[in-house]
Amino acid sequence: MPVNPKRTVAELKELRALTSDEHGAQRVAWTDTWLRAREWYAKKLAELPVEHHYDAAGNNWATLQGASEKCLLLGGHLDSVPNGGWLDGALNVLAGLEVLRRFASEFNGRPPVTIRLVDWADEEGARFGRSLLGSSAFAGTHTISADRARTDRDGIKLEDALRRCGVEIDRFLEAGRERKNAAAYLELHIEQGPVLEHLGLPLAVVLGTKGVERHIITFHGQEAHSGSTPMSARRDALAAAAKLALEIRYIAGKHPDAVCTMGSLKTFPGIVTAVVGRCEATLDQRDLDPHVLAQMYREAQSASRSFAEEEKCTVEWSRLWNIEPIAFHPELLDLCDQAIQEVSGTSHRMPSGPLHDAAEVSRAGIPTVMLFVQSLRGISHNKIEDTREDHLELSVFALDRLASKTVDWILHHV
Ligand SMILES: [Zn+2]
Repeated sequence: MPVNPKRTVAELKELRALTSDEHGAQRVAWTDTWLRAREWYAKKLAELPVEHHYDAAGNNWATLQGASEKCLLLGGHLDSVPNGGWLDGALNVLAGLEVLRRFASEFNGRPPVTIRLVDWADEEGARFGRSLLGSSAFAGTHTISADRARTDRDGIKLEDALRRCGVEIDRFLEAGRERKNAAAYLELHIEQGPVLEHLGLPLAVVLGTKGVERHIITFHGQEAHSGSTPMSARRDALAAAAKLALEIRYIAGKHPDAVCTMGSLKTFPGIVTAVVGRCEATLDQRDLDPHVLAQMYREAQSASRSFAEEEKCTVEWSRLWNIEPIAFHPELLDLCDQAIQEVSGTSHRMPSGPLHDAAEVSRAGIPTVMLFVQSLRGISHNKIEDTREDHLELSVFALDRLASKTVDWILHHV
């Protein structure tokens, strides 16, 4: 029985009907709606000759035992952000389910290598502010101490919310056992941006996930009365921040795929009758090339110092978070290219701005690649998130081709 992408689209709609309201998908990890999605998915798995269990971090594993112990992993996440879309994460899982069905029927339940489909726990980090929770436990990069104290908006502790779902945070890293025999990891995802729609292409090979530098930049000037302080005598912290907000567009613009964002700006005292004495800005910089990322960071720092000086202010930087760029496996990139060529007649390679579970898997040393399918209007994390149905179907065909090619690659090269 060949792969049946129409069934994937029908199942995505089934899941949407079960776990969305008028504001969008509500499958936030560690909530009742998320558990309902997992129960629904478990019933689908029960129709297949697979072993099914949850690991110590709540990742949901289905294993189709093959002739070889070596494993091909396919993954996605059923969790969503609040008021999210119907495809982000769920497409990956349900397309993977369809590929699993195809392997089970084609090889009478015993493919040449073991095929495992994982639904990662809490990819989004929507409730506790910690993304890639389950996959970082799998990869062994998770630090329990940093996350234990997290609480949600209602003051509920991360630890307690997880326990309600049968997950003990102290045993989290035991999820690393699932890495055993993992030979490759594949993940299909919606693009969540406008690039493929602009190019008129359905699918792309993902080169890797961009590294991120994330900082708070604080400019210090002098609070002063807005009526009595002449323009020439001001030390306006907002003026320095505003110059930087425009400069980062130029800093990013020197590189084709780089992005820089000043997403938040707070002024103090923040009243209509005072010159801004202190201004806190956030900066988020991303690129796939570590040298580009380092250069953009240096340039933003030096620009902030010269703008501070021009405005008779001072500036200080504090790092919020950073992650290095993660490049996917070169041989799997080629296989992915071939699979996309075969189903759509053309291919394209692009980096991913958003992080994905695939980044954690790749950090664990497992050969990894992702493929993107076009997002309409480039919108995601919103109820209007959408992809043409013919593109969704093509993406399942492409993932299926890629899975077969990767099985051969594992047999002959790993
Ligand atoms: Zn996602």
